[in-house]
This record gives sequence, C-alpha cells and structure tokens, in this order.
Amino acid sequence: MLDIKIEKTSKPKELPDKDNPLVFGKIFTDHMFVMDYEMGKGWYDPRIIPYEPISLEPSAMVFHYGQEMFEGLKAYKAVDGRILLFRPDMNAKRSNRSAKRLCMPEIPEEDYIQAIKELVEVDKAWIPTKEGTSLYIRPFMIATSPFLGVRQSHTYKFIIILSPVGAYYPEGLNPVKIWVEDDYVRAVKGGIGEAKTGGNYVASLLAQMKAHEEGFSQVLWLDGVHRKYIEEVGAMNIFFVIDGVVVTPQLNGSILPGVTRDSVIRLCKDWGYKVEERKISIDEVYKAHKDGLLDEVFGTGTAAVISPVGHLRWENHLMQVGDGGIGSLSQKLYDNITGIQLGKLKDVNNWTVEV
Ligand SMILES: *Cc1c(COP(=O)(O)O)cnc(C)c1O
Repeated sequence: MLDIKIEKTSKPKELPDKDNPLVFGKIFTDHMFVMDYEMGKGWYDPRIIPYEPISLEPSAMVFHYGQEMFEGLKAYKAVDGRILLFRPDMNAKRSNRSAKRLCMPEIPEEDYIQAIKELVEVDKAWIPTKEGTSLYIRPFMIATSPFLGVRQSHTYKFIIILSPVGAYYPEGLNPVKIWVEDDYVRAVKGGIGEAKTGGNYVASLLAQMKAHEEGFSQVLWLDGVHRKYIEEVGAMNIFFVIDGVVVTPQLNGSILPGVTRDSVIRLCKDWGYKVEERKISIDEVYKAHKDGLLDEVFGTGTAAVISPVGHLRWENHLMQVGDGGIGSLSQKLYDNITGIQLGKLKDVNNWTVEV
C-alpha cells in the first residue's frame, strides 16, 4: 500500500465544454501522480500534485537512449454513476514486463492500481459522460540519471497523467483503410516489439506518414524477417474472420500483447467461434479475399476498442473487406465490450474494477 501525499491545485482549470467534441490526448486534468526511484532505495515519495511541467537535466538518459515505457487504459462513468476501470491488472502486469525488457524497475501491481485509482478519484469531475467518451489514463516511466554513458539509468520517474477523450468515431463505428507495409518494419523477434515503449513508435512514423500521404489511415506491419506474416496495426492488434473462423497472429515476441486482443479472444470463444492464434501470411489473406472468404478484418486497442477495416492495400492490390462496411462480429464485439465498460451489460468475467 502506497502512502500517497495529495497536494491539490489552487488554480483548477475550466472543465472542457460538454458540447464540443474532445480531441484525443490534447487536454489534461488538474493533477498528476509522480513517484521517484533510486537504485538501492527503491520507489519513494508517491504523490499527487498539480499537473505541471517537470524539470530534468538535459543529460537525463531518457533523452539520449530512449529508456522509457508507457501504458494506456481508460476510466468510464458507468450508467449507474460508478467509475469503472477495465482490466487494470493487465496493464500493471504488462507494465512490469515492459520494465523488465527495458531494464527499468518494476512496480508492485497493487501499488500501480492504487496510484491510478487515487488519481482518478481526485480528478473524477473530469470524466466525461457523453456516449463514447472516457478519461484516458497514461502511466509512463522515464530514465532520469544525468549521464551520457550507455547503461541503464540509476534513477527513474513514474508519472500518471489523465486526459478526457471523446468517442474515437464521433459518428459511431467507422471502417478504416489500411496500408500493408512491405518496406519498413516495426519490430523483430528478440527486439522490443512486445514492450510498450516509445522506440517502437518512432520506428513506425515514417511508414505512417507514407500511408497518410496515400490516403490510408493506418499501417499494417508484416514480420521483420520474411515480410510475409502479419503482425499488428499501428497501435492495435489485428483480427481476420476467414470463412467464419476468427484468426489473429499469435504472440511471437514482436507483437504487443493487447488487453483488448485478449478480451476479444475470450468473448469470441465464449460465443462459440472457432478462434485461432497462429501465423497468418498476407498471401493467405489475399487468397481468402480472392476466394470471397474474407468476411471481416478489425483492429483492437484501448483507444478505439474495435476498428473495422474496410479496405486493405497490399502491393498493387486494393482489397475490399466484405462490403467495405462494418462486419457483424465487429459490431457485436464493440457493443459488448463498451457495454461492459459502461456497466450496461453483465460483467461475467469480472473485468471491471470500481475506483
Ligand atoms: C497499446 C498497443 C496495442 C493495444 O493494446 P491494448 O492493451 O488493447 O490497448 C497494440 N499494439 C501496440 C503497438 C500498442 O502499443
């Protein structure tokens, strides 16, 4: 149990206008959680303080060698007024796996969840209530030792910030167009692909810019060795429904193990679908498309929950998925997961945690 000191702001900001749509990740609440770490001493001084700039030496290691990691989850205002988190234990566990891979200190799961809960409680007035909105929670850790040698840092900061976010698709679910990238790669087995860290994102930017210029909203990554097996999309995992069977790439060391991915697999199995976690090549997807068996493609991630894919472009092929609209399984998964998150549907798997 952390003994978290709370210093409330004397200058609370104005809450965002309820009638204006919230842009993802632009507005931040009044407070943040901060905790420091020093080798030999461990984590110390957990505190909730006013949201403000942090001060670091220009030599702080995070600026030079990228030792940093983050998480992303959301708090929802349930229909009965409770504040709910969705599977925060999964984020705490994944955070510790990322930390291990990046030679950063772990945080006990209970402390991680406690810090999130206490911060959300302090800023609960910021949780938006309109359909599809939520309070995005961004925990992250950075290396702070002022040192230019290449080694792990001896000091770290763990920080949590909060951002009220709008519906990912203001007009409801919307199919996206995806660019299959066969030149650049995001991660390779043995690298840091399964850690949630900035390095994977900076590796993805150039391909994403290219995709945007071509009129596609996201990149679908192929494996770094054969440029053949499907890995994941931007900040989402990917699913295919081929002739009624739900197929998703197996976790292989270079794919980020998504909480939404895990939830989708569980729900599909509960509903009687055959679910396969295995290698799936882009040729297999193209063949399924040609044979008229590619029923649905969708991405999964905390931000959008379910993101139906209407079109996939690979080499010089533009594949339309189904009728280019929202597949029935995509819609059912979206309705179910958001229904559980908002306390509208029975949470049989005990996924939600009350703040
Ligand atoms: C966060 C993330 C996901 C999705 O994970 P969720 O836990 O479902 O939000 C997928 N891929 C990458 C690269 C990510 O960073």
